[in-house]
Amino acid sequence: MRIINTDLIRGKVKELCLELAYKMSDDLKASLERGRSQECTYLGRQVLAMLLENGERAEEQQIPLCQDTGMVFVYLELGQDVHLEGPFVGDAVNQGVREAYEEGYLRKSMVDPITRANTKDNTPAQIQIEMVPGDGARLSVLLKGFGSENMGRVRMLTPSAGVEGIVDFVLDTVREAGGNPCPPLVVGIGIGGSMDKSAAMAKKALFRPLGERSPDPFLKELENRLLREINETHVGPMGFGGEITGLEVFIEKFPTHLAGLPVAVNLNCHSLRRKTIEL
Ligand code: SF4
Repeated sequence: MRIINTDLIRGKVKELCLELAYKMSDDLKASLERGRSQECTYLGRQVLAMLLENGERAEEQQIPLCQDTGMVFVYLELGQDVHLEGPFVGDAVNQGVREAYEEGYLRKSMVDPITRANTKDNTPAQIQIEMVPGDGARLSVLLKGFGSENMGRVRMLTPSAGVEGIVDFVLDTVREAGGNPCPPLVVGIGIGGSMDKSAAMAKKALFRPLGERSPDPFLKELENRLLREINETHVGPMGFGGEITGLEVFIEKFPTHLAGLPVAVNLNCHSLRRKTIEL
């Protein structure tokens, strides 16, 4: 059995929140560079160049990539042979978030949904813990702004809608979102399961490395098709029109009930701030 003190989790959550707020990941930089080389419009190329420069400045000066430093999503995959000791794991995660947002002067965006009173420390994080075999532990953190989160959609399609129904729903979601989610987008899609399972898969898909394709040959083709058709909407960088509306499409699927076809689309802006580490 392996023992992990939850203070390690607190410290790593803090470190990751600060790193993600200030530093554009290498795969995102490469993807934006690729988009800039493929963008045909002058304005689109200018916007993509500004986004890249913004990333450089943020890292140099240790200031946030975006004023919306997001809601924090924490995923913990814990081996069955791991024993946690120390403060309750949920409290440790939230303490890590609290310290990062206080010490890093990051915007605190979390409010009561009814009274709108700010919790003043950007907690609580949304935490999901999954048991896995073995004695490993993996921590994933996502900072998500709500310009893009607000544009996500879930639809309970009928089975007869089929693949074309899924494609239409995804493209309608991107078109209706327009410039609101700050494209170019990374699009996470969850197909199957239940309403909540499809939404969870769509968000978790955002952690895949940019440039990776699904190992499932059918989903790989569907990812390629959707990325091409999303770019044919010509929403363009930051919604000003152009060729590059999407950087990536990631699809996850799960068996569903014979009477349903749940589909969820989670749009992430160009400021994709997520990272996974082994503990
Ligand atoms: S959608 Fe993304 S880039 Fe746009 S304001 Fe929100 S966090 Fe910032």
